[in-house]
Amino acid sequence: MAIQQKLSLMIPGPTPVPEKVLQALSKHPIGHRSKEFQDLVESTTKNLQWLHQTQNDVLTITGSGTAAMEAGIINALSKGDKVICGENGKFGERWVKVAKEFGLEVIKIDSEWGTPLDPEEFKKVLEEDKQKEIKAVILTHSETSTGVINDLKTISSYIREHNTALSIVDCVTSLGACNVPVDEWELDIVASGSQKGYMIPPGLSFIAMSQKAWEYAEKSNLPKFYLNLKSYKKSLLNNSNPFTPAVNLVFALDEALKMMREEGLDNIFFRHDKHKLAMSNAVKSLNLQLFADEKSLSPSITAIETGDIDAEKFRKTIKNKFDILLAGGQDHLKGKIFRVGHLGYINDRDIVNVISAISYTLLDQKKITAEQAGDALAVASRYLEKS
Ligand SMILES: *Cc1c(COP(=O)(O)O)cnc(C)c1O
Repeated sequence: MAIQQKLSLMIPGPTPVPEKVLQALSKHPIGHRSKEFQDLVESTTKNLQWLHQTQNDVLTITGSGTAAMEAGIINALSKGDKVICGENGKFGERWVKVAKEFGLEVIKIDSEWGTPLDPEEFKKVLEEDKQKEIKAVILTHSETSTGVINDLKTISSYIREHNTALSIVDCVTSLGACNVPVDEWELDIVASGSQKGYMIPPGLSFIAMSQKAWEYAEKSNLPKFYLNLKSYKKSLLNNSNPFTPAVNLVFALDEALKMMREEGLDNIFFRHDKHKLAMSNAVKSLNLQLFADEKSLSPSITAIETGDIDAEKFRKTIKNKFDILLAGGQDHLKGKIFRVGHLGYINDRDIVNVISAISYTLLDQKKITAEQAGDALAVASRYLEKS
């Protein structure tokens, strides 16, 4: 029987929450129109701009990551607009659904789940659009369902060459894990969510808006009220919110962003990169395959194919025995893969623990030898030693 409250979250959100952040959450709420709260809005907004590496507005919405993505779409676009949606996983699929729901005309650029989107396909479609009818390119940077990272930098450069289309990007599992320089890559609309790289519980999402995105917002005719970003922008001039925000989550956000500033962006990216490398290389010693193309591994999730082992049973065994929660496969991948989240508040110990738990379970099922179990840790240590 597992000990209560010792659960280790190794899923791609919600992610573990630091003690300091939990303490901030448990404070008594304050008035959201108070000077004290305005100061918090001011400091969190500044630190959000730092995290996004941007001078653009970064707005905080009470709602999960999908709220920020939907906000991006309904604030920038108008009924019947033609858009490109990149789709190579469950989240790419979601943006196609949202776009269609709002009456947009979707051109889909897809690739097989587990492989990255091909930037050249975006280039081709954008170059052929001589009439400049394409108003936006909507895509997912780190595709959480498959553990693939798409080449956003290159795709964004092609969007810039088109010169009319906006980029609307889901950076929910890349922001705070790897480099997403919003200004340098000239990204227009960037969405993220609190329960991923931010190390706070679910409930807040964030949206960065470029000048060009605001120009589009002036013309947009899709219906919106709660998610009308113009009202958020107007309130932000006064360090305020149009509606009652999740005050305690903002306490938590303030604390988490301070922790991130202390660690520094380069160190945060380095930590995620070494954990990705340790994880992905270790599992290869265990007769397991990576699901994603090895050249495009997400910094925050490793998806692992289990072959003749039922992945759902496997992750349940690990949950029951070790209190480590892993994510399953979605849709046709259910039972075929499991996913290890290593995003946010994750240290080397978490990585060693999860590799050991996987090795232990495979050894117990006589799927690997003790030597292989040892090899997996030895391989991981090569990456974890680097600092
Ligand atoms: C988690 C996640 C989201 C947001 O999902 P919510 O449940 O709305 O927070 C969006 N995109 C990706 C890639 C994600 O991993």
